[in-house]
Amino acid sequence: MNWQDKAHLRIPGPTPIPLRIQQAMAQPMIGHRGQATSQLLQECATSLRALFGTMSTPLILTGSGTSALEAAVINTVQPGEEAIVVVTGAFGDRFAKIVKRYGITLHRLDIPWGESCSPEQLTSFVQAHPRAKAVFLTYCETSTAVLNPINELARVVREHSDALVVVDGVSCLGAVPCLMDEWHVDIMVTGSQKALMLPPGLAMVAVSDRAWAVIEQQTQPPFYLDLLAYKKSMEQASTPYTPAVSLLYGLKEALLMLEEEGWENVFARHQRLKRMTRTGIRALGLPLFTNDQDASPTVTAIDGRQVAWETEALRKHMSQMKVTIAGGQQHLKGQIARIGHMGFCDELDILTVLSVLEMALVKLGVSIELGSSVKAAQEVMLDV
Ligand SMILES: *Cc1c(COP(=O)(O)O)cnc(C)c1O
Repeated sequence: MNWQDKAHLRIPGPTPIPLRIQQAMAQPMIGHRGQATSQLLQECATSLRALFGTMSTPLILTGSGTSALEAAVINTVQPGEEAIVVVTGAFGDRFAKIVKRYGITLHRLDIPWGESCSPEQLTSFVQAHPRAKAVFLTYCETSTAVLNPINELARVVREHSDALVVVDGVSCLGAVPCLMDEWHVDIMVTGSQKALMLPPGLAMVAVSDRAWAVIEQQTQPPFYLDLLAYKKSMEQASTPYTPAVSLLYGLKEALLMLEEEGWENVFARHQRLKRMTRTGIRALGLPLFTNDQDASPTVTAIDGRQVAWETEALRKHMSQMKVTIAGGQQHLKGQIARIGHMGFCDELDILTVLSVLEMALVKLGVSIELGSSVKAAQEVMLDV
């Protein structure tokens, strides 16, 4: 018996991979310049339009999510120019680090970790920095389990500035609505290993006409991450460099699975998983790190700063029972515990996590009533 097959990976990425997708990725290799690969790329790009909510043709890069964050920065803003980065946690901070690394003047709007950025906060910041060429935002800030109101944030940027709106949607696209054209988002990026139920290795980028006009003006475009090169190749149903063919087979299958379930049902499922998780944790009397309004449907954080036990000890007990959850990042290391519930995750998975969470708490000597969080989540599931 391979007990690894029974592992419950409940971190906010990488996430579990459905068997259908595993099997799709196990197909024999094909020539990367042949007709079959061209068709695969076109099928993926067509389905990706619905994921991003765009009429444009999304581009597919080989690289982890960060490659797309870096591409979004260096194709749009030149060294010496100004950019705004809204930092709500570790991934906003990553955008800020990329901006600094390339000698771009950084205007950093820091929001307390655990909160979302409000349209009012962004309005005054955008007005204070009128020379910014781009505003970088994070849709789901995975490190704090916060979902930022991207629609409203994009609107205030558009109302008060000519800056491009660039959004990191890595840990929520495929789980929450994204209407980038309607919201006037200029660049939206995502990655394969979160809500898309794939292994790490693909990054996807969708770009507005407004952003292409800026990108085309770049005098020193990057090499591997030159988005214009990907666009020109994609017009010929190809890629500038060898695409991750096996992952493309997987992407096609993943998008098919999401289409079969129906986008509205996919979003509703993630909302339900969030409600079950939060209701269950509350039933145990444990504090949540994020308020109901700001909480992401893809990940939930338990606030370990106000409890008498260690979140790292909790995680260890849970992993001994084959359930893996995540800890905190940067200054939240050892302070919070995060449960991922995106992608290939259903209601029964949440009942399992909560049940194991309870048993781990008992092992830590915390006084709780076994079954209480499971019961609360079951009631959400049954809608009673
Ligand atoms: C996971 C993640 C990324 C990408 O990280 P990689 O390790 O490069 O794949 C970027 N942004 C957010 C919000 C993420 O959750």
